[in-house]
Amino acid sequence: MTEAIQKLRELVNGSDNMVFFGGAGVSTESGIPDFRSTDGLYHQVWNYPPEVILSHTFYESKPEEFFRFYREKLLNPDVQPNAAHLKLAEWERQGKLRAIVTQNIDGLHQAAGSQEVLELHGSVHRNYCERCGRFYSMSDILKSQGVPRCSCGGPIKPDVVLYEEGLDQRILSSAIKAIANADLLIIGGTSLNVYPAAALLDYYRGHKLVLINRSAVARDLDADLVIQEPIGEVFSQL
Ligand code: ZN
Repeated sequence: MTEAIQKLRELVNGSDNMVFFGGAGVSTESGIPDFRSTDGLYHQVWNYPPEVILSHTFYESKPEEFFRFYREKLLNPDVQPNAAHLKLAEWERQGKLRAIVTQNIDGLHQAAGSQEVLELHGSVHRNYCERCGRFYSMSDILKSQGVPRCSCGGPIKPDVVLYEEGLDQRILSSAIKAIANADLLIIGGTSLNVYPAAALLDYYRGHKLVLINRSAVARDLDADLVIQEPIGEVFSQL
């Protein structure tokens, strides 16, 4: 065990009010690619950058193309939680972890058994009719074709925060409260360049800040411990 892992273990053992703040890197080890990292094949299949397709304007103006992207890139029915998701769920059961604040929309924390998951950007597991509010699951959307329609005829919209849309204020204030009261804050799998989510970290008032990310982080944080490795690999050693 490395010194960094040992220090992380000590911090976790000494905490009973931990909050985890996570991003796309938490799910990459489950096989969910970060849609912001586009590969060479991307431009052969898609005519627009992901930030454009996942905007409110695009959803309204080109819904066919939006749902083609949504089904192919964001709906991953066969993925499983990895060591990071499972360890966080275990810490919650043990009374050490108070909340998970996540930028991910894949529902893998809940699949691992976590209860208090604050999904800043929503979830692909929830889709609603814009007319009557009826709920549709991910598999309902996968079974549908083109622009999905409710049995009432209304359009079904994913409960996902698109670009140009604001965050859910209730979730945001719960996240602020959890972070402000945390004794230990672990930030994982995010390079912190997605705002306003990244600005949430300014509410942390504790003195135990841990940063775990595969690559360097955009913001200069005064972290007590920095581990530059994939988070699933790190957590599997705890
Ligand atoms: Zn409806």
